[in-house]
Amino acid sequence: MFTSINPATGAPGERFEELDADGVELALARAQTCYRAWRNSPIEQRTQLLSAIADQWEANKQHLAETAVREMGKPITGAIAEVEKCIAGFRHYAEHGPAYLAPTDVKTAGGRAVARWLPMGPVLAVMPWNFPYWQAVRFLAPTIMAGNVALLKHASSVQGCAALMQQLASAAGAPDGLFQNLPIKSDKVSDIIADKRVVAVTLTGSEGAGAKVAAAAGRALKKVVLELGGSDPLIVMPSADLDLAAKTAVTARVQNAGQSCICAKRMIVHAEVYDAFLEKFTAGMQAVKIGDPMDAATVMGPLSSVEQRDTVLEQVERAKAAGASLLFGAEKIERDGAWMNPGVLVGLDPESDVAKEEIFGPVAAVYKAQDLDAAIALANDVPYGLGSAVWTNDEAEIERFAREVEAGMTAVNSLLASTPEAPFGGVKLSGHGRELGPWGMHEFMNLKAVMYG
Ligand code: NDP
Repeated sequence: MFTSINPATGAPGERFEELDADGVELALARAQTCYRAWRNSPIEQRTQLLSAIADQWEANKQHLAETAVREMGKPITGAIAEVEKCIAGFRHYAEHGPAYLAPTDVKTAGGRAVARWLPMGPVLAVMPWNFPYWQAVRFLAPTIMAGNVALLKHASSVQGCAALMQQLASAAGAPDGLFQNLPIKSDKVSDIIADKRVVAVTLTGSEGAGAKVAAAAGRALKKVVLELGGSDPLIVMPSADLDLAAKTAVTARVQNAGQSCICAKRMIVHAEVYDAFLEKFTAGMQAVKIGDPMDAATVMGPLSSVEQRDTVLEQVERAKAAGASLLFGAEKIERDGAWMNPGVLVGLDPESDVAKEEIFGPVAAVYKAQDLDAAIALANDVPYGLGSAVWTNDEAEIERFAREVEAGMTAVNSLLASTPEAPFGGVKLSGHGRELGPWGMHEFMNLKAVMYG
């Protein structure tokens, strides 16, 4: 059985039965049968289904949001925003999917060829708890549009969210087997990847899980997309609007209690504005309103689990042992559940082990950089390369950051956020492949050349 634990109280909630071996076999058989029909479905049927799913989500917005709050502790305003983003994601593929599938004519030496996007089959998604809907929808919506079928192995802690997603797809009229939630533990994943009915796998989560899933996919010679962790830099240069940069840096660090792969985790500040930025940023972090995640006024609730909170506290201890100063916070709040305060570290040795890790909680490390080159070097001095943000009004600096920061995304004078239209993904240990837009949909499609003599 899976049991949801409410991280705001520590109380156990709903229980979900684990799927046994026969159940997995039935699901794979259903996926294959569904794929045989769905791959030839008219494009209008796919777009209509995506719109109908979006309508179901619209009608169940509050219920979806509250389920996420209870299972992983995000504030209700963030949960509603996440559901709305999912609705936008379904509608994006309903509207733009047909254009993304358009064939391309090319001239060849012997005549012409048409490059056509064709589906591939059932795709497995292994997804995390931090954005329990959006992480899965950015896989699900393009999968439906592509003519593939979807199998979801969601994180153990958000089985209620996963079950609800499947119910809403069925209520919208999804054919049997088009989207199946598999309530299974992670030790069942490699056998599913090896199964010949599954053609590819996508994972969002930690490096450790990514490496295991990629190894299983490699053994079976199947395509894999990995969206792993990040230790995103937020760089502040002297020409920046410091008030806005500091305010946005606070939001970027504490959103989702710091548990987002694209949270800004390292603030890299030019020496000229370091003191001024640090004062504003620290004041903002201290003012973050912590409280009941069901309360609309709450900015930060608990972390997703006691284990996750304790991992962050342990990283802070290691940072202090490596010579960093904790300016304030980063303490456990003594009450049931997974509570802690935000915190700010300075003087962290960039070569220390903890400086190379992802801190998946509301603790920022602030670094001083003497110049642009030093800022870029520091930004790139981690094994990750997911997101990044730069705050400057100097066009030449923006161009250097855009070219030289090793990341899949760079936000300029703004909060980095994923959006259905733009590619999303990383380089280095942050993974490979892209999600969203046409790129995400094409990852799991067969680009067939139809050759005419
Ligand atoms: P995991 O990477 O362990 O979990 C993500 C998903 O992978 C879950 O569905 C999990 O299932 C599954 N999984 C875990 N191990 C395996 C495996 N060996 N084979 C197949 N599937 C597996 O994340 P955690 O929840 O343990 O978080 C640990 C750290 O990962 C965080 O502190 C953070 O640094 C990073 N992380 C990054 C995320 C991101 O958005 N990039 C999201 C979540 C975590 P199950 O829940 O059943 O274990």
